[in-house]
Amino acid sequence: MTAPRILIIGGGLAGTCLAWRLHERGVPFMVVDRDEPATSSKVAAGLVTPITGMRMNLNWRYGTLHPEAVAFYRNIESLLGSAFYHDVPIVKLLRDDWSVDRWQKRCRQPEVQPYFTLPDGPLVDESIFSAPLGGYEMKQSGWLDSAAFLSASRAFFLEQRRWQTGESDGSLVWRGETYTHAVFCIGWEAAKHPWFDWLPFRSARGTVLQVSADTGGEKRIINRSCWVLPRGDGTLRVGPTYELDFDDASTPSPASVQELESKLQSLLKRPYEVLGSQTGVRPIITRRHAVFGLHPGKPNIGFINGLGSKGVLRAPWVGRQFVEHLLDGKTIEQDMDLAGNF
Ligand SMILES: Cc1cc2nc3c(=O)[nH]c(=O)nc-3n(C[C@H](O)[C@H](O)[C@H](O)COP(=O)(O)OP(=O)(O)OC[C@H]3O[C@@H](n4cnc5c(N)ncnc54)[C@H](O)[C@@H]3O)c2cc1C
Repeated sequence: MTAPRILIIGGGLAGTCLAWRLHERGVPFMVVDRDEPATSSKVAAGLVTPITGMRMNLNWRYGTLHPEAVAFYRNIESLLGSAFYHDVPIVKLLRDDWSVDRWQKRCRQPEVQPYFTLPDGPLVDESIFSAPLGGYEMKQSGWLDSAAFLSASRAFFLEQRRWQTGESDGSLVWRGETYTHAVFCIGWEAAKHPWFDWLPFRSARGTVLQVSADTGGEKRIINRSCWVLPRGDGTLRVGPTYELDFDDASTPSPASVQELESKLQSLLKRPYEVLGSQTGVRPIITRRHAVFGLHPGKPNIGFINGLGSKGVLRAPWVGRQFVEHLLDGKTIEQDMDLAGNF
Protein backbone atom coordinates (compact mmCIF):
# COMPACT_ATOMS: atom_id res chain seq x y z
CA MET A 1 0.00 0.00 0.00
CA THR A 2 1.18 3.57 -0.74
CA ALA A 3 2.22 5.29 2.50
CA PRO A 4 -0.95 6.89 3.88
CA ARG A 5 -1.43 10.64 3.79
CA ILE A 6 -4.74 11.63 5.26
CA LEU A 7 -7.03 14.58 4.62
CA ILE A 8 -9.30 14.97 7.66
CA ILE A 9 -12.47 16.89 6.76
CA GLY A 10 -13.91 18.51 9.89
CA GLY A 11 -12.11 19.54 13.07
CA GLY A 12 -14.72 18.73 15.72
CA LEU A 13 -14.17 16.07 18.36
CA ALA A 14 -14.18 13.27 15.76
CA GLY A 15 -11.68 14.93 13.39
CA THR A 16 -9.45 16.33 16.14
CA CYS A 17 -9.20 13.02 18.01
CA LEU A 18 -8.39 11.30 14.71
CA ALA A 19 -5.68 13.90 14.07
CA TRP A 20 -4.09 13.16 17.46
CA ARG A 21 -4.25 9.41 16.82
CA LEU A 22 -2.48 9.88 13.45
CA HIS A 23 0.04 12.19 15.11
CA GLU A 24 0.80 9.43 17.65
CA ARG A 25 1.47 7.00 14.79
CA GLY A 26 3.59 9.47 12.81
CA VAL A 27 1.21 9.50 9.81
CA PRO A 28 1.10 12.73 7.77
CA PHE A 29 -2.30 14.46 7.68
CA MET A 30 -4.06 17.76 7.10
CA VAL A 31 -7.19 18.90 8.95
CA VAL A 32 -9.57 21.11 6.93
CA ASP A 33 -12.28 22.74 8.99
CA ARG A 34 -14.79 25.49 8.33
CA ASP A 35 -13.87 27.09 11.69
CA GLU A 36 -17.47 27.93 12.52
CA PRO A 37 -18.03 29.70 15.83
CA ALA A 38 -20.66 27.27 17.20
CA THR A 39 -20.60 23.58 16.31
CA SER A 40 -21.77 20.54 18.24
CA SER A 41 -18.28 19.99 19.63
CA LYS A 42 -17.80 23.65 20.63
CA VAL A 43 -21.21 23.95 22.28
CA ALA A 44 -21.14 20.58 24.11
CA ALA A 45 -21.06 20.52 27.89
CA GLY A 46 -18.46 17.80 27.56
CA LEU A 47 -19.83 15.69 30.41
CA VAL A 48 -18.46 12.22 30.97
CA THR A 49 -20.95 10.26 33.06
CA PRO A 50 -20.88 6.60 34.10
CA ILE A 51 -24.63 6.43 34.82
CA THR A 52 -26.59 8.05 32.05
CA GLY A 53 -30.01 9.14 30.83
CA MET A 54 -33.44 9.03 32.43
CA ARG A 55 -33.22 5.26 32.81
CA MET A 56 -29.91 5.60 34.66
CA ASN A 57 -28.16 2.96 32.56
CA LEU A 58 -24.47 2.24 32.81
CA ASN A 59 -22.81 4.12 29.93
CA TRP A 60 -21.79 1.78 27.07
CA ARG A 61 -18.35 0.16 27.72
CA TYR A 62 -17.58 2.75 30.36
CA GLY A 63 -15.04 0.49 32.08
CA THR A 64 -12.77 0.59 29.02
CA LEU A 65 -13.73 3.83 27.26
CA HIS A 66 -13.42 6.06 30.33
CA PRO A 67 -9.80 5.20 31.27
CA GLU A 68 -8.77 5.44 27.60
CA ALA A 69 -10.42 8.86 27.17
CA VAL A 70 -8.95 10.29 30.39
CA ALA A 71 -5.43 9.05 29.52
CA PHE A 72 -5.81 10.49 26.00
CA TYR A 73 -6.84 13.98 27.17
CA ARG A 74 -4.26 13.99 29.98
CA ASN A 75 -1.48 13.15 27.50
CA ILE A 76 -2.47 16.05 25.27
CA GLU A 77 -2.74 18.36 28.28
CA SER A 78 0.82 17.58 29.27
CA LEU A 79 2.08 17.94 25.69
CA LEU A 80 0.37 21.32 25.25
CA GLY A 81 0.83 22.56 28.83
CA SER A 82 -2.85 23.38 29.26
CA ALA A 83 -5.75 21.93 31.24
CA PHE A 84 -9.11 20.99 29.77
CA TYR A 85 -10.21 17.69 31.32
CA HIS A 86 -11.69 18.03 34.81
CA ASP A 87 -12.43 15.10 37.15
CA VAL A 88 -15.57 16.26 38.96
CA PRO A 89 -18.35 14.35 40.75
CA ILE A 90 -21.84 14.68 39.31
CA VAL A 91 -24.74 14.86 41.75
CA LYS A 92 -27.85 13.21 40.38
CA LEU A 93 -31.02 14.40 42.12
CA LEU A 94 -34.07 12.21 41.56
CA ARG A 95 -36.99 14.03 40.04
CA ASP A 96 -40.09 11.87 40.48
CA ASP A 97 -41.43 8.62 41.97
CA TRP A 98 -40.58 6.70 38.79
CA SER A 99 -36.91 7.68 39.01
CA VAL A 100 -36.80 6.89 42.76
CA ASP A 101 -38.15 3.44 42.03
CA ARG A 102 -35.78 2.95 39.12
CA TRP A 103 -32.78 3.98 41.21
CA GLN A 104 -33.75 1.61 44.06
CA LYS A 105 -33.37 -1.29 41.63
CA ARG A 106 -30.39 0.10 39.73
CA CYS A 107 -28.22 0.85 42.77
CA ARG A 108 -28.26 -2.81 43.84
CA GLN A 109 -26.68 -3.97 40.57
CA PRO A 110 -23.01 -4.89 41.15
CA GLU A 111 -21.83 -3.30 37.84
CA VAL A 112 -23.22 0.09 38.90
CA GLN A 113 -21.76 0.12 42.41
CA PRO A 114 -18.22 1.30 41.57
CA TYR A 115 -19.69 4.45 40.06
CA PHE A 116 -21.69 6.07 42.85
CA THR A 117 -21.53 7.04 46.48
CA LEU A 118 -24.07 8.19 49.04
CA PRO A 119 -22.28 10.82 51.16
CA ASP A 120 -23.13 11.12 54.86
CA GLY A 121 -25.38 14.12 55.30
CA PRO A 122 -27.23 16.11 52.65
CA LEU A 123 -26.21 15.68 49.02
CA VAL A 124 -26.47 19.39 48.27
CA ASP A 125 -27.07 22.64 50.14
CA GLU A 126 -30.85 22.63 50.12
CA SER A 127 -31.04 26.37 50.61
CA ILE A 128 -29.55 26.59 47.09
CA PHE A 129 -30.71 23.47 45.24
CA SER A 130 -34.10 21.81 45.46
CA ALA A 131 -33.61 18.11 46.26
CA PRO A 132 -36.87 16.76 47.75
CA LEU A 133 -36.33 13.15 46.60
CA GLY A 134 -32.60 12.78 47.31
CA GLY A 135 -30.25 11.10 44.86
CA TYR A 136 -26.64 9.99 44.63
CA GLU A 137 -23.18 11.26 43.69
CA MET A 138 -21.42 9.76 40.68
CA LYS A 139 -17.73 8.84 40.84
CA GLN A 140 -15.28 8.52 37.94
CA SER A 141 -17.15 11.31 36.17
CA GLY A 142 -15.95 14.63 34.79
CA TRP A 143 -16.11 17.07 31.92
CA LEU A 144 -13.98 18.15 29.02
CA ASP A 145 -13.83 21.85 28.23
CA SER A 146 -14.27 20.85 24.61
CA ALA A 147 -13.95 24.38 23.22
CA ALA A 148 -10.60 24.76 25.03
CA PHE A 149 -9.42 21.31 23.89
CA LEU A 150 -10.32 22.05 20.27
CA SER A 151 -8.78 25.49 20.29
CA ALA A 152 -5.49 24.27 21.87
CA SER A 153 -5.32 21.36 19.41
CA ARG A 154 -6.02 23.67 16.47
CA ALA A 155 -3.25 26.05 17.56
CA PHE A 156 -0.79 23.14 17.85
CA PHE A 157 -1.67 21.70 14.44
CA LEU A 158 -1.65 25.16 12.82
CA GLU A 159 1.92 25.59 14.00
CA GLN A 160 2.77 22.21 12.50
CA ARG A 161 1.08 23.26 9.22
CA ARG A 162 -1.46 20.51 9.65
CA TRP A 163 -4.61 22.61 9.90
CA GLN A 164 -6.28 24.82 7.32
CA THR A 165 -9.52 26.74 7.29
CA GLY A 166 -11.69 25.81 4.35
CA GLU A 167 -14.43 23.60 3.03
CA SER A 168 -13.56 20.32 1.31
CA ASP A 169 -15.76 18.30 -1.05
CA GLY A 170 -13.80 15.09 -0.44
CA SER A 171 -11.45 15.38 -3.40
CA LEU A 172 -8.09 13.69 -2.70
CA VAL A 173 -6.33 16.78 -4.05
CA TRP A 174 -6.53 19.69 -1.62
CA ARG A 175 -4.80 23.00 -2.39
CA GLY A 176 -2.31 21.30 -4.70
CA GLU A 177 -1.41 18.41 -2.34
CA THR A 178 -2.50 14.81 -2.97
CA TYR A 179 -3.76 12.53 -0.19
CA THR A 180 -4.34 8.78 -0.11
CA HIS A 181 -7.57 9.10 1.89
CA ALA A 182 -10.12 11.77 2.75
CA VAL A 183 -11.91 11.10 6.04
CA PHE A 184 -15.25 12.82 6.54
CA CYS A 185 -15.69 13.90 10.17
CA ILE A 186 -18.39 16.45 9.37
CA GLY A 187 -20.97 15.75 12.06
CA TRP A 188 -24.71 15.80 11.46
CA GLU A 189 -24.44 17.41 8.00
CA ALA A 190 -23.27 14.06 6.59
CA ALA A 191 -26.97 13.17 6.47
CA LYS A 192 -27.26 15.57 3.50
CA HIS A 193 -24.18 14.28 1.67
CA PRO A 194 -24.90 11.92 -1.26
CA TRP A 195 -22.14 9.51 -0.18
CA PHE A 196 -23.64 9.04 3.29
CA ASP A 197 -27.33 9.95 3.04
CA TRP A 198 -28.34 6.26 3.16
CA LEU A 199 -27.34 6.06 6.85
CA PRO A 200 -30.26 6.22 9.33
CA PHE A 201 -29.43 9.62 10.84
CA ARG A 202 -31.73 10.96 13.57
CA SER A 203 -29.73 13.92 14.84
CA ALA A 204 -30.93 16.13 17.67
CA ARG A 205 -30.36 19.81 18.25
CA GLY A 206 -29.28 20.79 21.76
CA THR A 207 -29.26 24.19 23.43
CA VAL A 208 -27.30 25.35 26.48
CA LEU A 209 -27.48 28.55 28.52
CA GLN A 210 -24.67 30.60 30.06
CA VAL A 211 -25.89 31.84 33.40
CA SER A 212 -24.56 33.90 36.25
CA ALA A 213 -25.69 32.85 39.76
CA ASP A 214 -24.30 32.45 43.25
CA THR A 215 -24.31 28.70 43.95
CA GLY A 216 -22.37 28.95 47.21
CA GLY A 217 -19.05 27.80 45.76
CA GLU A 218 -20.49 24.47 44.54
CA LYS A 219 -17.86 22.83 42.31
CA ARG A 220 -19.72 19.65 41.40
CA ILE A 221 -22.09 19.25 38.45
CA ILE A 222 -25.69 19.13 39.68
CA ASN A 223 -28.35 17.34 37.65
CA ARG A 224 -32.10 17.24 38.00
CA SER A 225 -34.03 17.45 34.70
CA CYS A 226 -31.15 19.62 33.47
CA TRP A 227 -27.49 19.80 34.47
CA VAL A 228 -25.82 22.81 36.03
CA LEU A 229 -22.08 22.97 35.38
CA PRO A 230 -20.07 25.48 37.46
CA ARG A 231 -17.21 26.77 35.32
CA GLY A 232 -15.20 28.09 38.24
CA ASP A 233 -15.48 31.76 37.21
CA GLY A 234 -18.90 32.48 38.78
CA THR A 235 -20.74 31.42 35.64
CA LEU A 236 -22.67 28.24 35.01
CA ARG A 237 -23.63 26.30 31.93
CA VAL A 238 -27.14 24.91 32.01
CA GLY A 239 -28.53 22.38 29.58
CA PRO A 240 -29.24 20.67 27.39
CA THR A 241 -32.42 20.42 25.36
CA TYR A 242 -33.02 17.50 23.02
CA GLU A 243 -34.83 18.71 19.91
CA LEU A 244 -35.55 16.27 17.10
CA ASP A 245 -37.44 18.77 14.94
CA PHE A 246 -35.54 21.94 14.10
CA ASP A 247 -35.11 24.33 11.17
CA ASP A 248 -32.14 26.37 12.27
CA ALA A 249 -29.00 24.52 13.37
CA SER A 250 -27.18 27.50 14.83
CA THR A 251 -29.68 29.83 16.53
CA PRO A 252 -31.31 28.77 19.82
CA SER A 253 -35.09 28.92 19.62
CA PRO A 254 -37.03 30.96 22.23
CA ALA A 255 -38.88 27.74 23.20
CA SER A 256 -35.62 25.90 24.00
CA VAL A 257 -34.36 28.81 26.12
CA GLN A 258 -37.69 28.91 27.96
CA GLU A 259 -37.61 25.13 28.55
CA LEU A 260 -34.15 25.37 30.13
CA GLU A 261 -35.11 28.35 32.25
CA SER A 262 -38.14 26.57 33.66
CA LYS A 263 -36.01 23.49 34.52
CA LEU A 264 -33.41 25.72 36.14
CA GLN A 265 -36.07 27.50 38.21
CA SER A 266 -37.30 24.19 39.60
CA LEU A 267 -33.73 23.23 40.59
CA LEU A 268 -32.04 26.47 41.66
CA LYS A 269 -33.51 28.44 44.56
CA ARG A 270 -31.28 31.47 44.03
CA PRO A 271 -31.73 34.32 41.51
CA TYR A 272 -29.84 34.01 38.26
CA GLU A 273 -29.19 35.98 35.09
CA VAL A 274 -29.04 34.47 31.61
CA LEU A 275 -25.91 35.75 29.86
CA GLY A 276 -26.36 33.93 26.57
CA SER A 277 -27.33 30.73 24.81
CA GLN A 278 -25.79 28.44 22.19
CA THR A 279 -27.07 25.61 20.08
CA GLY A 280 -25.56 22.73 18.11
CA VAL A 281 -26.65 19.45 16.55
CA ARG A 282 -25.55 16.09 17.96
CA PRO A 283 -24.79 13.67 15.11
CA ILE A 284 -26.91 10.60 15.89
CA ILE A 285 -27.21 7.44 13.78
CA THR A 286 -30.11 5.31 14.96
CA ARG A 287 -29.20 2.36 17.21
CA ARG A 288 -25.41 2.83 16.76
CA HIS A 289 -22.85 3.91 19.34
CA ALA A 290 -20.72 5.27 16.48
CA VAL A 291 -20.20 4.56 12.77
CA PHE A 292 -16.77 4.64 11.14
CA GLY A 293 -14.57 3.00 8.54
CA LEU A 294 -14.11 3.17 4.77
CA HIS A 295 -16.91 3.78 2.30
CA PRO A 296 -18.15 0.45 0.85
CA GLY A 297 -17.97 1.81 -2.73
CA LYS A 298 -15.10 4.31 -2.36
CA PRO A 299 -12.07 2.75 -0.63
CA ASN A 300 -10.23 6.08 -0.33
CA ILE A 301 -13.08 7.76 1.52
CA GLY A 302 -13.24 7.34 5.29
CA PHE A 303 -15.89 8.37 7.80
CA ILE A 304 -16.26 8.91 11.52
CA ASN A 305 -19.68 9.92 12.79
CA GLY A 306 -22.64 9.08 15.00
CA LEU A 307 -20.94 9.97 18.28
CA GLY A 308 -24.33 11.13 19.58
CA SER A 309 -24.34 12.63 23.07
CA LYS A 310 -21.15 10.86 24.04
CA GLY A 311 -18.50 12.34 21.76
CA VAL A 312 -16.02 13.16 24.53
CA LEU A 313 -15.97 9.59 25.81
CA ARG A 314 -16.07 7.81 22.46
CA ALA A 315 -14.02 9.94 20.04
CA PRO A 316 -10.54 8.91 21.38
CA TRP A 317 -11.47 5.19 21.16
CA VAL A 318 -13.12 5.51 17.75
CA GLY A 319 -10.15 7.51 16.41
CA ARG A 320 -7.77 4.76 17.52
CA GLN A 321 -9.96 2.00 16.08
CA PHE A 322 -10.11 3.84 12.75
CA VAL A 323 -6.33 4.24 12.57
CA GLU A 324 -5.74 0.59 13.52
CA HIS A 325 -8.14 -0.45 10.76
CA LEU A 326 -6.38 1.71 8.18
CA LEU A 327 -2.78 0.97 9.17
CA ASP A 328 -2.92 -2.51 10.70
CA GLY A 329 -5.96 -4.02 8.97
CA LYS A 330 -7.80 -4.47 12.28
CA THR A 331 -11.45 -5.42 11.79
CA ILE A 332 -14.11 -2.90 12.76
CA GLU A 333 -16.94 -4.38 14.79
CA GLN A 334 -19.80 -5.13 12.41
CA ASP A 335 -22.42 -2.84 13.98
CA MET A 336 -20.09 0.20 13.83
CA ASP A 337 -18.52 -0.48 10.42
CA LEU A 338 -19.60 1.94 7.67
CA ALA A 339 -19.23 -1.01 5.31
CA GLY A 340 -21.48 -3.18 7.53
CA ASN A 341 -25.25 -3.73 7.30
CA PHE A 342 -27.64 -0.81 7.72
C1 LIG B 1 -25.99 21.01 23.43
C2 LIG B 1 -25.08 19.84 23.31
C3 LIG B 1 -24.60 19.25 24.47
C4 LIG B 1 -23.75 18.14 24.39
N1 LIG B 1 -23.25 17.61 25.53
C5 LIG B 1 -22.37 16.61 25.47
C6 LIG B 1 -21.79 16.10 26.66
O1 LIG B 1 -22.09 16.55 27.77
N2 LIG B 1 -20.89 15.08 26.55
C7 LIG B 1 -20.53 14.55 25.33
O2 LIG B 1 -19.70 13.65 25.28
N3 LIG B 1 -21.08 15.00 24.18
C8 LIG B 1 -22.00 16.01 24.24
N4 LIG B 1 -22.55 16.49 23.09
C9 LIG B 1 -22.31 15.74 21.84
C10 LIG B 1 -20.98 16.05 21.21
O3 LIG B 1 -20.90 17.43 21.06
C11 LIG B 1 -20.89 15.33 19.86
O4 LIG B 1 -20.84 13.94 20.07
C12 LIG B 1 -19.63 15.74 19.09
O5 LIG B 1 -19.48 17.12 19.12
C13 LIG B 1 -19.65 15.27 17.66
O6 LIG B 1 -18.45 15.70 17.07
P1 LIG B 1 -18.20 15.64 15.51
O7 LIG B 1 -16.78 15.99 15.31
O8 LIG B 1 -18.72 14.35 14.97
O9 LIG B 1 -19.17 16.76 14.89
P2 LIG B 1 -19.07 18.37 14.89
O10 LIG B 1 -18.74 18.88 16.21
O11 LIG B 1 -20.34 18.82 14.26
O12 LIG B 1 -17.85 18.70 13.93
C14 LIG B 1 -17.94 18.70 12.54
C15 LIG B 1 -16.97 19.73 12.00
O13 LIG B 1 -16.87 19.58 10.59
C16 LIG B 1 -16.86 20.87 10.00
N5 LIG B 1 -17.30 20.68 8.61
C17 LIG B 1 -18.51 20.24 8.17
N6 LIG B 1 -18.48 20.10 6.82
C18 LIG B 1 -17.23 20.47 6.41
C19 LIG B 1 -16.60 20.52 5.14
N7 LIG B 1 -17.21 20.15 4.01
N8 LIG B 1 -15.30 20.92 5.07
C20 LIG B 1 -14.64 21.30 6.20
N9 LIG B 1 -15.22 21.26 7.44
C21 LIG B 1 -16.48 20.83 7.54
C22 LIG B 1 -17.79 21.69 10.87
O14 LIG B 1 -17.55 23.07 10.71
C23 LIG B 1 -17.38 21.17 12.25
O15 LIG B 1 -16.30 21.88 12.78
C24 LIG B 1 -23.40 17.60 23.13
C25 LIG B 1 -23.87 18.22 21.96
C26 LIG B 1 -24.71 19.32 22.05
C27 LIG B 1 -25.19 19.96 20.78
